[in-house]
Amino acid sequence: MEKEAKIYVAGGQSLIGAAILRELESQGYGHLLGKYTEGLDLTDPSQVDAYFATTKPEYVFLAAGKSGGIRANQKYPAELMRDNLLSECHVIHSAYQQGVKKLLYLASSCSYPKLCLQPMKEEYLMAGHLEPSNEAYATAKIAGIKLCQAYRRQYGVNFICAIPANAFGPGDDFSEEDSHVIPGLIRRMHEAKQKEDSSFLIWGTGAPRREFIFSRDLAEACILVMKKYEEVEPINLGLGSDISIAELAGLVKEIIGFPGEISFDPSKPDGMPVKLLDSRKLQALNWEPRTPFKSALAATYQWFLQSEEKQDRGPRVEEKIRQTGRN
Ligand code: GDP
Repeated sequence: MEKEAKIYVAGGQSLIGAAILRELESQGYGHLLGKYTEGLDLTDPSQVDAYFATTKPEYVFLAAGKSGGIRANQKYPAELMRDNLLSECHVIHSAYQQGVKKLLYLASSCSYPKLCLQPMKEEYLMAGHLEPSNEAYATAKIAGIKLCQAYRRQYGVNFICAIPANAFGPGDDFSEEDSHVIPGLIRRMHEAKQKEDSSFLIWGTGAPRREFIFSRDLAEACILVMKKYEEVEPINLGLGSDISIAELAGLVKEIIGFPGEISFDPSKPDGMPVKLLDSRKLQALNWEPRTPFKSALAATYQWFLQSEEKQDRGPRVEEKIRQTGRN
């Protein structure tokens, strides 16, 4: 991928898409598309066709499609599935029609079966039933993988797929209900501290384990994979270690400085018991994460505080579902 190549990041306003754009910029890529495309509706084929025909990108990072945490997946399965199916369908087809040199599609670790062997190898995809709470979204993400593989087989295009661990970082959706666990815990615990609550309730049992990847580190991995990975099978993007939700809550408590007790609400769903990727293929490309987990959490909390300050000065827009390419 040459420094002057035209690179389009579909979903450039999402957590991962925006991080990819920032990382490409900092690595000296000068011809970037996708930063100011809020008005472009990727579920509309005519808009996507026209955008590709006008801009003619050479490389495409496909980090588009709505996503959300466990509650959003339960509340909006149709919306999440439709948005992802349509946007991946149109972007992949237009990329093929316009002769894009290489496309990287980002799926999600919830594409693996609910009771998958751990750590999850790429070959375990579709080897069992999906977790019911995010089945609709996960099915759409799997369809994206299969679509890339089908275009590759039929048209010989260089479209590859990656499966990231649970991403988090600045610019995430920090809504109380619909966000993923890290931004959700940050918002709720921050507010509990402000209200001087004596205790804080975590959803579920706290026992599930998750592998988290900082958005900037994930962006680096995506760029590396775009440059070096050529296989038909997807490649996992993780760091190889996980923590329990209870342990995570302890770290968030420390960073926020919440003095109260933490307790659990087992009436809320746990989701998949464990999600840990086997990322040996990524390690073989000489990738390792740059940011220690605690510093990444602290940076994310700082970003949240600054954005709250800004919002206090202007009207607050409560977003129900955010645009990201991850779960
Ligand atoms: P998942 O990785 O697809 O299961 O999605 P999430 O990031 O939404 O949730 C991860 C785990 O954290 C689940 O077991 C949730 O029950 C648990 N959890 C605990 N507290 C929260 C919270 O405040 N928000 C969210 N989204 N999840 C929470």
